[in-house]
Amino acid sequence: MITFHLITLFPESFESYLNASIVKRAQEKGAIAIKYYNPRDFTVSSKKNKEQSYADRRVDNRPYGGGPGMVIEALPIIKAIEKAVGNKIKTAKGKKSVKIIFFSPSGQQFTNEIADSFKVYTDIVFVCGRYEGIDARVKKAFPMIDISVGPYVLTGGELPAMIMIDTITRRIPGVLGDIQSLEEERVASPDVYTRPEVIEYKKKKYRVPKVLLGGNHKDIEEWRTAVRADGDQKKRQG
Ligand code: SAM
Repeated sequence: MITFHLITLFPESFESYLNASIVKRAQEKGAIAIKYYNPRDFTVSSKKNKEQSYADRRVDNRPYGGGPGMVIEALPIIKAIEKAVGNKIKTAKGKKSVKIIFFSPSGQQFTNEIADSFKVYTDIVFVCGRYEGIDARVKKAFPMIDISVGPYVLTGGELPAMIMIDTITRRIPGVLGDIQSLEEERVASPDVYTRPEVIEYKKKKYRVPKVLLGGNHKDIEEWRTAVRADGDQKKRQG
């Protein structure tokens, strides 16, 4: 089983996606587990803090060197990671059991290959940044890698964490009903069709490409390969 540990200021943003469909079933089957840690629970305990409402417990501060936006402080994140996997890191003795991911738009691009390489870990920690990011000293306290989910800037690391959990989970043997459902195990096409054979919209008829109706698997695979390789509309018509 892989346990995903989510360090996030917004745990509520995960609920609907991770509690539906394949990821939900993977949790029910015991293939994965998901745990949440809010850095606000790890702010310095002081009288003032206790009197403050939960949402007011500050975890961000102004960046050294100036510039816009706020930076999440290192210690609440370090304590959250410690709570999540501290014991396991200490007892791992070189065994690959814990992986910690720090999200950054300039990190290593996440791929299926990286997802597969992570399946050996029992515990994967996702450190979800917000605002201008997280104090970089977190990366000195624990070994971790910077991962990007694409060449664009998101508001936070929550969507990247969900992307990675989804991708890793569907690749765990037994999670998908039929292993053939993994796209790279078969000839998959970005264009798929289902019943009925002809639909009508605004007086125009739209038909399923003939090749898919003929039952010739060789022709169908060739068509799918061509569609995948080439966005040409004519080929798509079959
Ligand atoms: N100024 C920061 C930088 O250039 O690294 C970006 C801050 S961004 C507004 C807030 C957080 O969203 C980041 O700390 C990171 O956790 C996450 N994030 C944004 N885009 C991402 C991407 N493409 N891949 C992974 N994480 C991303």
